[in-house]
Amino acid sequence: MKTANKKVTAERLVRDALEKAEFFRDYNIFTFLNKTGAIQKAREIDAKIAKGEKVGRLAGVPYALKDNFLSPEGETTASAHILEGFTSPVTATVVEKLEAEGAIMIGRTNLDAFAHGSSTENSYYGPTLNAFDQERVAGGSSGGSAVAVALDIVEFATGTDTGGSIRQPASFNGVYGLKPTYGCNSRYGVVAMASSTDCIGFFTKTTEDMDLLMSVASGQDPKDMTTLPDFYNDTKPSKPRGRIGVIKDFDNELVNKEIRSALKKKCEALEKKGYEIVELEMPALKYALAAYYIIVPAEVASNLSRYDGVRYALRSDKSDDLDSLYENTRNEGFMPENKRRIMIGNFVLSSGFYDAYFLKAAKARTLIVKEYEKAFEKVDYILTPVSPSPAFKLGEKVNDPIAMYLEDVMSVSLNLAGVPGLAVPVGKTKSGLPIGLQLVGPRRSDKNLIKFAKELE
Ligand code: GLN
Repeated sequence: MKTANKKVTAERLVRDALEKAEFFRDYNIFTFLNKTGAIQKAREIDAKIAKGEKVGRLAGVPYALKDNFLSPEGETTASAHILEGFTSPVTATVVEKLEAEGAIMIGRTNLDAFAHGSSTENSYYGPTLNAFDQERVAGGSSGGSAVAVALDIVEFATGTDTGGSIRQPASFNGVYGLKPTYGCNSRYGVVAMASSTDCIGFFTKTTEDMDLLMSVASGQDPKDMTTLPDFYNDTKPSKPRGRIGVIKDFDNELVNKEIRSALKKKCEALEKKGYEIVELEMPALKYALAAYYIIVPAEVASNLSRYDGVRYALRSDKSDDLDSLYENTRNEGFMPENKRRIMIGNFVLSSGFYDAYFLKAAKARTLIVKEYEKAFEKVDYILTPVSPSPAFKLGEKVNDPIAMYLEDVMSVSLNLAGVPGLAVPVGKTKSGLPIGLQLVGPRRSDKNLIKFAKELE
């Protein structure tokens, strides 16, 4: 990571990043550019450097913040109309940690509203364009963050991954994207989607940068009771036994040919290096997508109930009593996909259907957790595609929710199981679109997983 020093000042780094952000305006990456704030912070760091004072490990490094992380700099909208005008009084723990090391937020990035989606087309501010083909989607929900790194505007960006929102856009734009073990990084101050699967992670161009960011971000946070003690920085380097699993159930017609062949080639290369490739049967994974699209909407419905037109930004002016105030505000402020999830969520939680849907999905989730545990008795890591296809065309799936949900078929099981996954860029299709593979490890293996990704380079 290029940090500031006496010769290359933080102000220079920040101004360069802001200029690039302006240059790539057409891509619709940012919902807010932090011009004044970022330059002021850069000058503070430069003053410290000039005085010979100690600066952090990320001194003067410009970064992009997904617009669902709270901080008082700019409005935090989660790309949703209902949060337009909301300035947060608090700062997310991860943001605090990054900035304590000297990182400087140059802008907030576009996402599917409330992180619901796989293309960034569900944003109130319109879609972000793919870094490699402007007619294609950036992936989602962290599309803006992925493209900001892919186009070299910043060296890193933050993301949230509830079911693939870091890994899928990373793979669509040819960068690294990590969804850490659940509980590794604090969720405090991040707009909640589904509290039992939300994970905070990063986009980078190298595994070294990813490791550095994780060593800054990880650790227990008294403000998030689901965080784990800092296993990341306590990890002992492991010598893998050398067994890599591939999931038989994912090798089928649903997956794009070029992605399948990229996976095959990587496996062959690993075999040449002396790794053993083990075929895994993981039959419970076929329930992952269905279970995810019951459990996550249930949590979404409950997390989004706080946006009522009373406590946060938007308030409909068409209302003359409390009920219609709620109704009109929520109707005007949420995107169609947000509404769909709220309705599904309330349905699967309703007393008549709870047993048939939510409880069943929870049981399927347990099977999936166990299946991963069993798999990691046999192998050190698992290698799979991130998604069934490379970046698809804008508009291709946005009106077909099921087609869009199917995008997540390979990513969501990791969130249900809480295991870490790293999207690794491994090449391109004939037409020049990036291909990503997903490296999966057991819970708390994040550090060694990132290191192992080097083997795929
Ligand atoms: N695409 C998935 C969904 O729409 C994942 C979203 C996410 O990880 N935030 O639910």
